[in-house]
Amino acid sequence: MIEFIFTLDYEIYGEGIGRLKECVIRPAQQLLDIFKYYGYPLVVFPEVLEFEKIKEYGSDPDIDQVGLQLQQILNTGNEIGLHLHSWWANANFTCGKWQLDFSLANLCSLPGYKIREIIGKGLDILRRLLGDSQYQPIVFRNGFWIMQPTRVIVEILNEFNLKIDSTLFRGGRIRKYNVDYRPSVSNGYYWKILDDVNKHQDDGLLFEVPIYTELVPFWKMISRFNKRKSMNNDKEVPSERLLKIIGLRAIFGDYFRMKYPRKLDYCFLSLEEILTSLNKLIMLDERTNKDYKPIVLVGHSKNLTDFEKVDRMLEFIRKRNLRIVTFNQILHRLCS
Ligand SMILES: [Zn+2]
Repeated sequence: MIEFIFTLDYEIYGEGIGRLKECVIRPAQQLLDIFKYYGYPLVVFPEVLEFEKIKEYGSDPDIDQVGLQLQQILNTGNEIGLHLHSWWANANFTCGKWQLDFSLANLCSLPGYKIREIIGKGLDILRRLLGDSQYQPIVFRNGFWIMQPTRVIVEILNEFNLKIDSTLFRGGRIRKYNVDYRPSVSNGYYWKILDDVNKHQDDGLLFEVPIYTELVPFWKMISRFNKRKSMNNDKEVPSERLLKIIGLRAIFGDYFRMKYPRKLDYCFLSLEEILTSLNKLIMLDERTNKDYKPIVLVGHSKNLTDFEKVDRMLEFIRKRNLRIVTFNQILHRLCS
């Protein structure tokens, strides 16, 4: 049985560029309106550390709209998770520019007391934004897709009563931060984690419900990198680097053998690519209906431009009587 979980990372660009109105508030509202029309819930991951800093430095006139919108999101049947870009924790705003502390970029590798401090702070900010001191998110997503090293952060998330992590993308690798999710390729659709996010552990303290990926040949990723580059007005340096790597590998004949984990990202993939993936999943589910398959899709408010595509996707899902749910709604299934 398949259930889809549509997640939205609600944030400006990681390096501090972008206005709240254009990158967050307006696109999120349009997306919410479409989901509301179909009666489906969204899971929203507001990156709270940046909102606290934007408020502190008064760097964006629309900051007060963020809390109001998040309250509206929560009060209309959606879910809000905890999402942290730890490099914002020590941010300063000088001469009209953000100075971010990238020595904190891998939250998981910081000393335990620092991880606890940043997660605790994030929860306080989230509760303040929502105007609810008791609000308890159950799902976590870390910045830069980093969930290694795993044990300490999982223990601390468990202390704070988080139940699920949805950071890992199956088959992924982030060399810069020594993150390697390739061993998780043969895992099921969710598992319990403690020592290593890649491995199921019976005494795991959190569930990993990964971001769904498909392994595709490298050439299928090229159009996506180009699209990402143009959408960000050439701001995304990593894709340039990746393109160089692709080029080198191509010269040495490795090009067509290489597979890349492509996230089910409703901002970057075309409608055709998404519907092809969904059709494959539906066909797989017809053969293996007994296995429960929570399928997590991703999108970022800053990259949302094609709402017609979202509408067509939801129409496709509704016509096939498929369900879109929240992590809260599936927790009992994971536990059973
Ligand atoms: Zn993020």
